[in-house]
Amino acid sequence: MSNEQTEAKAALFATRQARVAQLRRRLARAEHEFLLVSGLPNIRYLTGFTGSSGYLLVAPDFLVLYTDGRYDIQARAQTRDVEVRISTVSVLLAFLEDLKKRRIRRLGFEQNRISFDTYQYLRGELRGGRFQPLNGLVEKLRMVKSDGEIDRIRASVDLNSCAFERVCHKARPNWSEARLASEIEYQMRRLGAERAAFETIAASRERSALPHAQPTVQNLRRNALIVVDHGAMLDGYASDMTRMICFGRVDQRQRELFEAVREAQLAAIGAVKAGVRAGTVDRSARKVLKKFKLEKEFSHSTGHGLGLEIHEPPRLGPKEDLRLRAGMVITIEPGAYVEGVGGVRIEDVVAVTNNGCEVLTKTPRHLRVL
Ligand code: ZN
Ligand code: ZN
Repeated sequence: MSNEQTEAKAALFATRQARVAQLRRRLARAEHEFLLVSGLPNIRYLTGFTGSSGYLLVAPDFLVLYTDGRYDIQARAQTRDVEVRISTVSVLLAFLEDLKKRRIRRLGFEQNRISFDTYQYLRGELRGGRFQPLNGLVEKLRMVKSDGEIDRIRASVDLNSCAFERVCHKARPNWSEARLASEIEYQMRRLGAERAAFETIAASRERSALPHAQPTVQNLRRNALIVVDHGAMLDGYASDMTRMICFGRVDQRQRELFEAVREAQLAAIGAVKAGVRAGTVDRSARKVLKKFKLEKEFSHSTGHGLGLEIHEPPRLGPKEDLRLRAGMVITIEPGAYVEGVGGVRIEDVVAVTNNGCEVLTKTPRHLRVL
């Protein structure tokens, strides 16, 4: 390992230590000492462990990661100042036995990150102990990204844009939606992505009016709106972009639909700034769509946070009170979906700043005619 790599690794461990310290302060404010972290992205955020199974016990002066034999070497290599317990039988059982040994009687848990079965099992076993829901503590920390995290998201966004460009150069109207989606995912992987951040959406003609359309064997065809929504995971961080493409030309109605959504998206991006409420950004997009009598055709929220997960807080819905803070990274993705005509969505990733926002997505937003 070069000196630079060693330094970067040390900086990463220091960042994680600071996150754990912050979490402990929040726990103390909630009058808790111990927290069971079961959300894998949260475990990754706090320790660097990327395995697919594990529980993390956060205590005032120690951290224990419980995982299984598949991750023995990996867990020790990825973490520092974390006690790693490997279980060959049941990770949960190992955790429980350890809890009893340490005489921990009161434990907070992440209620939205645990199955009902696990909850019942732990409650049953911790007889007389207090097992209390504590929601979103780590997610709240994760909402504001460090400069290093924003750089990682930017790299993921750039890779995702590059995959889009490569496919635009070779796509044909006789490709199926499924082929278009798989070519994009193939290019993401070739460019170094770990995986797609979510199932790629590629929908042509009237199917573009389905906001979450699954690609089918239907051909893309000429003279139709085609919506493409895809994201990559790179170095653990997600990207997310929606663009409209078309072969040939679209009719006047579809062109108007596109222009209305583009104006709504620009209005929402223009409203983003530290201190502004998430709901205000959402309503600024809705206001524009209302002008075009399309407010009823906009059936989802304007955006969402992204980072280690494709969807994380904050949500940008009409009634969201949360005030944006510098360092939050969110998508801005208004849409309008007209049954029988087609749908349009345009989506970019932006980083909130004190003066407004930085648009991380560099791909031009215009309707791409191929
Ligand atoms: Zn998307
Ligand atoms: Zn999105």
